[in-house]
Amino acid sequence: MNYQEVIDQQRQFFNTNTTKDISFRIKELKRLKNVLKKNEALLYDSIYKDFKKSEFETYTTELSIIYNEIDLAVSKVKKWSRKKKASTGLTNLPGKSYIIPEPYGTVLVIGAWNYPYQLSLCPAIAAIAAGCTVVLKPSEVPSRTAATMAKLINENFDGAFFKVFEGGVKETTDLLNIKFDKIFFTGSVPVGKIIYQAAAKHLTPVTLELGGKSPAIITKDVNIDMTAKRLVWGKFLNAGQTCIAPDYVLVQSDIKDKFLLAVKKYIERSDYNVDNQNYTQIINDKNFDRLKDMIDDDKIYLGGDCNKEERIIPPTILNDVEFSDKVMQDEIFGPILPVLTFETINEAIKKVNNLAKPLSCYVFTKSSVVKKKVLNEISFGGGAINDAVMHFTEHTLPFGGVGDSGIGSYHGKYGFDTFSHFKSVLQKPFWIEPNIKYAPYSPGKLKLLKRIIG
Ligand code: NAD
Repeated sequence: MNYQEVIDQQRQFFNTNTTKDISFRIKELKRLKNVLKKNEALLYDSIYKDFKKSEFETYTTELSIIYNEIDLAVSKVKKWSRKKKASTGLTNLPGKSYIIPEPYGTVLVIGAWNYPYQLSLCPAIAAIAAGCTVVLKPSEVPSRTAATMAKLINENFDGAFFKVFEGGVKETTDLLNIKFDKIFFTGSVPVGKIIYQAAAKHLTPVTLELGGKSPAIITKDVNIDMTAKRLVWGKFLNAGQTCIAPDYVLVQSDIKDKFLLAVKKYIERSDYNVDNQNYTQIINDKNFDRLKDMIDDDKIYLGGDCNKEERIIPPTILNDVEFSDKVMQDEIFGPILPVLTFETINEAIKKVNNLAKPLSCYVFTKSSVVKKKVLNEISFGGGAINDAVMHFTEHTLPFGGVGDSGIGSYHGKYGFDTFSHFKSVLQKPFWIEPNIKYAPYSPGKLKLLKRIIG
C-alpha cells in the first residue's frame, strides 16, 4: 500500500470518530506499553547494534521516559480531554462559553536518530492521547532501531490508526507532499526549515524540535565538585549526542583550573573508553569525521585520541577556546566540551546572546542576582539551575525550543495540547435577546453600549 492509500485510510478511520473515545485511546496506549515491555530484549539489542548504546542508558534515557509518558497519559487523558468552562462577558449573558480540545486528525511524526525510540514514540504517544491517527517516520540512521519500531508497531496496530514507514530523505519528501493535519518534527535546523516550507504548502501546523549550541555558565561561587559531576554526566551521556547536552562551558576565569581538574576527575571515574560497554559509539563515520575535525590538537586538555575503527571519541575537553574557533561555529553533538572563560556575568550573557537562541541553557551559581539575570536576559527553550539535562525528565515542564531551536513543545499535558485544537464555543439560550446591537441604530443605543463595553 502506498503512502497516500494509508493516509486516506487513516482519514477514513479518524472520521468514524473512534479515536474520540477516551477508552479507545487508553486501550491503544496500554497496547503500546505491552508491546514494548514484551519486546524489551529486541529493543536493547537493536540499539546496541546501531551505536553500542548500553541497556542502562537505553532504559534510563529511552524506555523509562516512554513508559512514564504512557502511564501519565493513561491516567490523565480523561481530564485533559474534558470541555473547559470559560468566563462570559456581559454582552453575551446569559450565554455560556467553553473550550473543547479536539484531535487535529491524521498526523505525521518525524524522528531524529540520537534517542531513536523516545524521540519517535513520545510524540506518537501524545498524538494518540489527543485522539489523532499517526504516521511515524523514524530516523533511518540507526537502521536496526528503525526496523524494530516498524516491525513492532506495524505488527501490533491497525495501519489505519498507527503506521510506521521507514526511510530517509526521499521517503520523507514523498510523505511531506501529502497533506497532514499536523507535523511534529525532531531534527536539525536546516531540515526543520525544509519541513516548515513543506507544511506551509498545506497550511499544516508544525512543531519543530530542533537543536543549537546550549551553554553552561559557571560562576566562581559554585560547589565546583558537584558542578563538574553533573556536567560530565549531562555532556557525555550518549557520547554527547544529546540535543540538550551542554554544548560549551563558560566558566568564570577565577575557578577555571579547579573546574578542569574536577571535570577530569569525574571523566576518569566514569571510565569512558573503547572497552567500556556503557560508553556509546558515534552514530556513523560521517559524524565521527565531522567531530574529529572539530578537535583542535593545540587546545586539548583531555582526551582527543579518537578510535575510527570502533567509532569511539573519548570525552575530549578543549581549553582556552575562543568564540571564533571551529568548534564554536556549529552545534557539536558529540563528546567534545570546549571551555571558555568570562570575567563578569554581563560579559557571559552578551556572549551567549551573540549566538542563536539555544534549546537549553544551564547556569551553575549560588548568586540569586546571577540566576535572575540569566533567566531574564537570555532567551532559551528550557534549562536548569545547578544541573544539566534533567529538566527534560519533568513532564510538568513543556519541552521545546525558541527561535532557531524550535517551535512548540511537548511532554505530558503539553504533548496532548500540541496535538489538539482548542475549539472555542459560545452557547446561547433562545429565551432572551436584547435589541441593543440590532438596527435601527440610535444615539441612545450607542450611549448605552459605550457604558456597557467601556
Ligand atoms: P536530521 O535533521 O538530519 O534528521 C531528522 C529527520 O529528518 C530524519 O527522520 C531524517 O530522515 C529526516 N530528513 C533528513 N534530511 C531530510 C530532508 N532533506 N528532507 C526531509 N526529511 C529529511 O537530524 P538528526 O541528524 O537525526 O538529528 C540531529 C539534530 O536534531 C541535532 O541538531 C539535534 O540538536 C536535533 N535534535 C533535537 C531534539 C529536540 O528535541 N529538540 C532532539 C534530538 C535531536
